[in-house]
Parts: sequence; structure tokens; C-alpha cells
Amino acid sequence: MKKTNAHKTLVTWHANDIARDARVLLRVDVNVPIAHGRVAPYGMHRLRTLVPDVTRLLNRGARIVLIAHRGDPGGRVDPDLSLAPVARALTKVLETPVRFVPHGPGEDAQRVIDRMAPGTIVMLENLRFFPGEEKNSVAFAKALAACGDVFVNNAFGVCHRKHASMVAITKYLPSFAGSLVVQEVTMLSARESHPFVVLLGGAKIQTKIPLIHQLASRADAILFGGGAALTMLYANDHALPVKAPLFTKNKDVAAARSLMQKYASILHMPSDVVVHRGQAIDIGPATIDAYAAILSKARTIFWNGPMGVIESEHGFDGTLALARTIANSRKATTIVGGGETVAFLDEFHLTDCFTHVSTGGGAMLAFLAGDAMPGLDALLS
Ligand code: ADP
Ligand code: MG
Repeated sequence: MKKTNAHKTLVTWHANDIARDARVLLRVDVNVPIAHGRVAPYGMHRLRTLVPDVTRLLNRGARIVLIAHRGDPGGRVDPDLSLAPVARALTKVLETPVRFVPHGPGEDAQRVIDRMAPGTIVMLENLRFFPGEEKNSVAFAKALAACGDVFVNNAFGVCHRKHASMVAITKYLPSFAGSLVVQEVTMLSARESHPFVVLLGGAKIQTKIPLIHQLASRADAILFGGGAALTMLYANDHALPVKAPLFTKNKDVAAARSLMQKYASILHMPSDVVVHRGQAIDIGPATIDAYAAILSKARTIFWNGPMGVIESEHGFDGTLALARTIANSRKATTIVGGGETVAFLDEFHLTDCFTHVSTGGGAMLAFLAGDAMPGLDALLS
């Protein structure tokens, strides 16, 4: 769906790139929600996406060193953001032990890695405990590089970040894109068939404005829901049954007005909303029907952002109804992404019904909006 003019291609790995029993430094995106020391059920989709590459590498006899981050500890150790619970969950998902090493790159980790048997996996501690990671530090990248013989990046969700484990590391090891990264780039770059319908919701419109501009030039319809729709309605002087919607800043109002002026013919707004305790928390039944009718004629559907406050029992009907509509559409290529959106689909066991479920929230929005993707650029040849 992205307009690409890249002449370069991602370097992907083939069996002969990776020697038997090589140490493979595998960067993954496992930044999943954890409650009471366990990965929340709706975080499991992201972990499952790692299975194909890990299996292929293990079959090759590789020794896999998983590297990843969790949350934003800001370069300091925060025990609440340890990757230990993720390593435990991965042990189940991958059906093979993932030994957790409570250290970053360095001598302690090295000792464990040196003793690894072929076909086994270890996972290092949260990279963002160390200031060098987010600074894209050469010293930190070199320390990481010492933990492997080759580097494979399978963390699409982090590719919009210029961090040491994404960018600097590629200067010190032979570096490849993992199959998940390749799949994301392929799916999100594919040329769309028409009608191309975009369903857009979520809390704030602000983070999605560049994306809307990108998609509006190619889509046949953009259907607004969630807080984003409220901002659009408010900015364009539609009567709302509630006070000024949450999160609406003056800047957003101006942006929402100019979107409406530019693309009025393809933008669709809710005709009714569900009000609960003075807050518009969902799209209403007439809107659900109208949107479902448009979606059912589409040949390509891109969806990001819930239609309402899905965390509330009064606010998830619209999102679920349209999720089911899209899941049932036979003739459309269906692409969905966004942290909350995918978590919701996972909860209702609908992820398998989509052509592509992106693992990148912010990264997917950045990629589609045509922003810089330093993590991908570092893997191009
Ligand atoms: P995603 O992570 O899928 O990209 P966002 O982060 O943009 O989605 O938005 C998700 C959040 O949007 C949800 O937590 C949901 O509660 C909120 N939201 C959706 N509709 C509304 C609304 N009408 N009012 C307030 N919050 C909303
Ligand atoms: Mg989100």
C-alpha cells in the first residue's frame, strides 16, 4: 500500500549465510503487555509470529541469542520491565527452552553464550536498561556484536527507531532481515486493488494525520471512528451530543479542518454515536450499518484504530461488528495494524481471518506515511 521508489532490496538470509552452530543474534519485538508476571493472552499473537524464523534457525543448528526491549526504562535498570517473563512465555510458544540471562551484553552474558549447545536459545535482558541502546552507541553495538556471528533483525515494530540493536549493530556483523520484516514490508508495500477502503479510529487523530494524507490520495473511502472521528466532527462544526472530545488540541482542529477541505468527497463520519456518562464511547448502529455496507464492497481494506472505547463493556460493539464484517469479507485483501486494534482481534480470536496482521504499531504508521525507517535502511543492499 505504500508508494515505494526504493531501488534497493532488503538482504534476507539463506541457509548458506548461516554456518551450522553459528551464534545468531536475533533482534525481536516482544514488547508485550505483562500482568502479574505473565504475558497477557492478547500479547501472545506477537510472540507466535517469531516461530517460523526461530524454527528454521534451530533446524540449522544455530545458537540463538535473542535481544529485545520492553517498555521505556530510559537507560536504567527497572526490575518491573525485565524480559524474564517474556522468556518464560517464549519457552511455551516455541516449545523449546529459552534460557534467560539477567545481563546485557558483556562478560557475564558471554560466558553463558560460549557454553551454548547447537540448536539452543538464550535471551538477554532488556536492552533499554542500557543507555547505549537508544543512543545508537558504537560501543554498545560492538558489545552486542561480540555476542553473535551474524545478526538477523526480525523486529519490524522497532524499525522506525535508530537504536544500537537496530542500526549501529549492522556495521559490525553480517546482517539480514528476518522473514517477519520481509513479510511486513511486502504486505504493506503491495499495490492495492479498488475499491480501497480505509477504516480509521483510535484515541487521537494527531499521530495519524501524516498517514491520512498518504492514504487519502489513493483510497476510495476513509471511514472515521473512535476519538479520531470526534475530533473530525468537532473541527468541522458538526453537532455533537457531547462536549469537546477528549484529546482535541487546537493544532488537531486545524489539521482536521484541512483534511476535510481537501478530501471531503472520500471522508465518511459517524452519523450516530453511543453516549455513556457524557462521553461518546462508540459509533452507533446506523454508522455500523453504513460502514459495513461500504466495507463489504471493498477489494482492499486497511484498518487501524478501534471504533470506540473497547476497554469498556459499553464501548466495543462497533469495533467488534466491523471486525467481523472485515473478517468475513471474501474478496478483499485485509490488512490491520495497531497495538490496541490487534490486541482486540486477538481477544476475539479473529487474527487468523485477516490477510495480514501487522506487528508494528507506530512502525507500521511510520512506514505507510513514508517516514524514515532507519532499521530497514540498515538492511538494504
Ligand atoms: P492502535 O493502538 O490500534 O493504533 P490507538 O492507540 O490509536 O489504536 O487507540 C486506541 C485507544 O483509542 C483505545 O484505548 C480506545 O479506548 C481509544 N478510543 C477509541 N475511541 C474512543 C473514544 N470515542 N473516546 C475515547 N477513547 C477512544
Ligand atoms: Mg495504541
